[in-house]
Amino acid sequence: MGAYQLQDQLAKISGKPIAPPTIYRAIEFLLKVGLIHRIASLNAYIGCPFPTSDHSNLFMICNGCGSVAEVALNSINGLLKSASEKANFTLQDQSLELFGLCPNCSSEQEQE
Ligand SMILES: [Zn+2]
Ligand SMILES: [Zn+2]
Repeated sequence: MGAYQLQDQLAKISGKPIAPPTIYRAIEFLLKVGLIHRIASLNAYIGCPFPTSDHSNLFMICNGCGSVAEVALNSINGLLKSASEKANFTLQDQSLELFGLCPNCSSEQEQE
């Protein structure tokens, strides 16, 4: 969802309209605590399905309908960590965006 949809949602939750400066502070806060993620390629935000766990920020983005699914895969974290160490790179944040077709869209393609 984009910033404006997030604004709508927050307004619904809190029961009052949220002014734009507040929405950006809220987004910053939600990003920091890991309740939402920013999908850079879509310039959108998604709610995190597993906010309390350490995870990979691995997103599967559907080219058909634009849906985003977040997947937790711990082995990816170890892989990225060792790759970074090899390159003397201090890893601070990570976001993996995979593009393809979600189950709905891929079954639609098969029917054609
Ligand atoms: Zn997440
Ligand atoms: Zn799809």
